[in-house]
Amino acid sequence: MPEYKAPLRDIKFVMNELLNSEQHYANLEGAEDATPDMVDAIIQEGAKFCEQVLSPLNQVGDQEGCTWSEDGVKTPTGFKEAYQQYVEGGWPSMTADPNYGGQGLPHSIGLVISEMVGTSNWSWGMYPGLSHGATNTIEAHGTEEQKQTYLTKLISGEWTGTMCLTEPHCGSDLGTLRTKAEPNADGSYSITGTKIFISAGEHDMAENIVHIVLARLPGAPEGTKGISLFIVPKQLPNEDGSAGERNAVSCGSLEHKMGIHGNATCVMNFDGAKGWLIGPENKGLNCMFTFMNTARIGTAIQGLGSAELGFQGSLAYAKERLAMRSLSGPKNPDGIADPIIVHPDVRRMLLTQKVVAEGARALIYLAGQQVDVVHSGKTEEERKHADALLGFLTPIAKAFLTEIGYESANLGMQVFGGHGYIAEWGMEQNVRDSRIGMIYEGTTGIQALDLLGRKVLMTQGEALKVFTKQVHVFCKENADNEQLKEFIEPLAAINKEWGDLTMKVGMTAMKNREEVGAAAVDYLMYSGYAVFAYLWARMAKVALDKMAEGTSEEMFYNAKVQSARFYFKRLLPRTRTHAETMLAGADSLLDMPEEAFAI
Ligand SMILES: Cc1cc2nc3c(=O)[nH]c(=O)nc-3n(C[C@H](O)[C@H](O)[C@H](O)COP(=O)(O)OP(=O)(O)OC[C@H]3O[C@@H](n4cnc5c(N)ncnc54)[C@H](O)[C@@H]3O)c2cc1C
Repeated sequence: MPEYKAPLRDIKFVMNELLNSEQHYANLEGAEDATPDMVDAIIQEGAKFCEQVLSPLNQVGDQEGCTWSEDGVKTPTGFKEAYQQYVEGGWPSMTADPNYGGQGLPHSIGLVISEMVGTSNWSWGMYPGLSHGATNTIEAHGTEEQKQTYLTKLISGEWTGTMCLTEPHCGSDLGTLRTKAEPNADGSYSITGTKIFISAGEHDMAENIVHIVLARLPGAPEGTKGISLFIVPKQLPNEDGSAGERNAVSCGSLEHKMGIHGNATCVMNFDGAKGWLIGPENKGLNCMFTFMNTARIGTAIQGLGSAELGFQGSLAYAKERLAMRSLSGPKNPDGIADPIIVHPDVRRMLLTQKVVAEGARALIYLAGQQVDVVHSGKTEEERKHADALLGFLTPIAKAFLTEIGYESANLGMQVFGGHGYIAEWGMEQNVRDSRIGMIYEGTTGIQALDLLGRKVLMTQGEALKVFTKQVHVFCKENADNEQLKEFIEPLAAINKEWGDLTMKVGMTAMKNREEVGAAAVDYLMYSGYAVFAYLWARMAKVALDKMAEGTSEEMFYNAKVQSARFYFKRLLPRTRTHAETMLAGADSLLDMPEEAFAI
């Protein structure tokens, strides 16, 4: 297993040089505490915790997994103690509302910590990650009493949270869910039903677990319009706020799964458990979107982490492993062979992981800044613009990053040759752990429908324009920059083509709605590569400007330009295939009758 090293120089490059965080925080309402020194100190401390505490537990979690007994679920050795340290360090409260014990720091700083936590130990990070989503949901939709009772405990980290959506017969299509909520005389509800695949549904890390549950009220309309949202605690809170009597909710079993073994994936049985409505009746799915949006950006981080961890492991190996000679003559003449990093194909694998990890970081931090502005922007106009941009970027970040993150994890394994397939090095664990990213929190197919159907076509392309306008301005501003030409010209062409393709797909979709489903995943992947082209061109510009000013970090900045060049020459051309296949029409997918799919 690679020892995780937080990529602090790169984190600072994206925060400070690409996205100008200092200015960004100065423009937010109530972000006075986020001074550069403070932010730096937080990130340094977070890095230490992730490197020293979480990273060593990553392989332990995989090998031991969680264990179920009638008394509850036991997490792997060291998980509970690490969580205790995390709570004592005040990490759960960092970005939460100060009225309920939070520190009120901007959400984008929380994402940096989540990146380091998730890369060093994704399975462990899911426990506080889910609490974060529960916190946001109660913060946005809970009553004052619910906030006092649950929010304060989630924010302090004493209790953790879950999201309970999926049932045995439905995950993507929540309109068919069956869990029932029957009103009690005291204003509470009795929740009955089975939820499956519930991450962190039961564990021994905290004294109580707050389940955020989707269920139907009696007589509720069918489909998604009849779903309400409830808080269902594992232990019912006492008058004094402490965890009291056991509620009728229990973990029936743990799933045996491909990866993320350190995280408990639970079948949860609600047997008339006591719960309380959050938000208005039948508007549960709308309220749950608060949770899901947090979780989607959270899952996008998994894509970044998979690429980063694969890169860190395979880079070290590629410098040491000796095999054959460079095609242009020995590079290590005194050794028995050259290190594999000299071979072009190994370079391809390393550079792919590197540009995916760094591009993903830029995209996630950019999305994080939009989250900050949505919450604390000074004007209504700024908040609205950030909300539109965030809505557009979220499905791309979630699906594109987990897809290419998984590809990168696979490349990390490939660099190791046969040793990559052996557990000891941790590369096969990274592949297994990262595979789920494309499934939970809405599969790639579902994210693609959200992007193309809901975000782009339903707004007549307005959501796309929010982004492409920015790209257009950037291209225009730099049109005369000779050094940037190799990036600006293809970026401007992609930006234009993106709009043209959207029009074409939109036109065919007006005649046949199946065309949306047929084009969606290619459209999403194309969009991901286009967003990355913009971010890599911007990173190249920052680096070129720094070198022009004169810098002692010439190699660092030059590597940024070289990485951008690799991206434009070797990954961006993938858009050619996506452009062609997104226009290939639904017929070749749907013409074959179902019966012909015979085995
Ligand atoms: C390890 C793990 C942890 C999880 N954690 C949680 C959790 O904490 N809480 C929770 O509630 N759930 C959780 N889930 C559930 C997860 O979110 C769902 O599995 C996921 O959303 C997919 O739903 P499904 O499994 O029912 O697949 P289905 O919805 O049955 O989908 C099957 C396939 O059909 C495709 N599909 C479905 N509908 C369409 C459509 N309209 N157009 C195109 N394609 C379509 C999907 O993309 C997918 O490829 C977890 C799952 C796992 C495995």
